[in-house]
Amino acid sequence: MPTYDVVVKAGTIFDGLQTPRFKGDIGIVDGKIAQIGAIDTADAAEVIDASGKHVAPGFVDLHTHYDSQVFWDPWCTMSGWHGVTSVVIGNCGFGFAPCKPEDRDRTMLSLSRNEAVPLRTMRAGMPWDWVTFAEFLDSVSRTPKGVNMMTFVPLAPLYGYVAGIDDAKTQRVTDEQLAEMCGLLVESMEVGGCGWSAQISGEIGNVQLDYDGTPMVTDCMTEREIVAFSRALRSMGRGVVQMTGSLDIAALIARESGRPVIWNGLVADGALNQHGAGLYSHRDAIKQVAYYNEVEGLRIFAQALTHNFVSEFTFEDYNLLDTMPVWKEALLGTVEEKQAKLADPERRKGMKELHDARGGLFGAGYVMDEIKVNWISSDAPNAQEIKDRYEGWTIGEIATRENKHPVDAMLDVAVAGGLAVGFATKMIETPPQAMKEVATSSMALPGVSDGGAHTKFVTTARYPTEMLGYWVREHEIMSLEEAHWRLSYYPALAAGLKNRGCLREGTPADIVIYDYARLDSGPQERLWDYPEGEMRLVQKAMGYERIIVNGVTTFIDGECTDETPGRLLRHGTD
Ligand SMILES: [Zn+2]
Repeated sequence: MPTYDVVVKAGTIFDGLQTPRFKGDIGIVDGKIAQIGAIDTADAAEVIDASGKHVAPGFVDLHTHYDSQVFWDPWCTMSGWHGVTSVVIGNCGFGFAPCKPEDRDRTMLSLSRNEAVPLRTMRAGMPWDWVTFAEFLDSVSRTPKGVNMMTFVPLAPLYGYVAGIDDAKTQRVTDEQLAEMCGLLVESMEVGGCGWSAQISGEIGNVQLDYDGTPMVTDCMTEREIVAFSRALRSMGRGVVQMTGSLDIAALIARESGRPVIWNGLVADGALNQHGAGLYSHRDAIKQVAYYNEVEGLRIFAQALTHNFVSEFTFEDYNLLDTMPVWKEALLGTVEEKQAKLADPERRKGMKELHDARGGLFGAGYVMDEIKVNWISSDAPNAQEIKDRYEGWTIGEIATRENKHPVDAMLDVAVAGGLAVGFATKMIETPPQAMKEVATSSMALPGVSDGGAHTKFVTTARYPTEMLGYWVREHEIMSLEEAHWRLSYYPALAAGLKNRGCLREGTPADIVIYDYARLDSGPQERLWDYPEGEMRLVQKAMGYERIIVNGVTTFIDGECTDETPGRLLRHGTD
């Protein structure tokens, strides 16, 4: 009997703890790292030659929405492709448990807009074999997984379960209802939830609304409710809160709960992202977070947006313009309704005013003229004719050629194509100095991957590859030792994931082996691999020679091994 199941031989090891890199072997037994050092390969059932390669802990992605995708994609791609070995779901207060059977469709409807997961995909792909949070965890636990998974207790489903999704928006919950929800939170924590999450963004400027354009139920939370949930968490003495909203509210939660808060999010000045520009200038936010932590004694982490912005979208299902009422209203309803609204000259007047006043894409600062008509669906009416006329052209070129305002140029093409027209933005580079300040600030956790969400528009789950293969390799914004700590151990620590995120004897063998020179993301491409043949936008990864989860290889140079060694991680016990 060999002593080791696997030996990773002669790699350059980054342990995720900021230990300076060193050359060595890693021996794995029963899914755990048994030894780090010089190991005789005669003792190994399998030897992986890692010479010339980097060996590092698998990445820990705290901000994902794979709550539905895990049921049809065990590897939670794109994350599984990009070296992520543990994900946290249930972010932003959104999720699927607890949920009464009669509310399932209503719940999916919310997710179809605020996180833009295609509705028919969810309907076809989810088993819905739960009502309570505990039953949901059991369902996730028995579902084959290629990554480890932990979950927050999202607050929106608690409101829905106790007070009714729509009722809870129009009238505040009673004291009895609030107490019942806090009780459910504690019960959910006891079976493995890692804390609670909520998007508390109000109505104005909110980019992730419900299907009907109203705010999500958590957006309307009052101080009384926020304090109640925070104190319920305090009573547990463990767990963390993930919240999207203002720093004042983050501080309130940290104060009342006595627990760490992961605040979303820190965005570099000059950066665009899937949610528009940041709420604060990044220097102000960094200073404020430092004040709370160093002076007031709170513990606030900043989920930092560390990827460049590039997007593709159609007007069939785009939700990321919801901060601008004129666009939000035009993009609610069925495809036919949207088409009629986008053709309406009165509405276009408002869109043009916004464009002209704020100079750019929907008023968000991006140059609209540079957006390209990337593809037109063959199902579109008169597809061939409009393909010949517009495909591959930018809005600026079309506007000039047809002597139109850019808003008219864009919307005329969209309407002519029955909205099945894919528009692509250029990659917008965040100023490297600003990215460095953000990514290396003391409480920054890289990411905002949004894996599993907005899957038709953005591919931000590539962030670990972009951090290593672009920001560190090309721009040297931090050392590789620091980058691996920030991509693995620091987020694991923030979320209370014990024993993960580092390479240490006795810890689970979640490992990436990669070729640093080759590490990169592939081009954006469309796949029709979601249930019901729904399309999603992805970027694959290059340079990961092995991705290992709990000692078992899931990907070899981008090829899936079909192994599903991932586990449900229950907070408090795992
Ligand atoms: Zn989110």
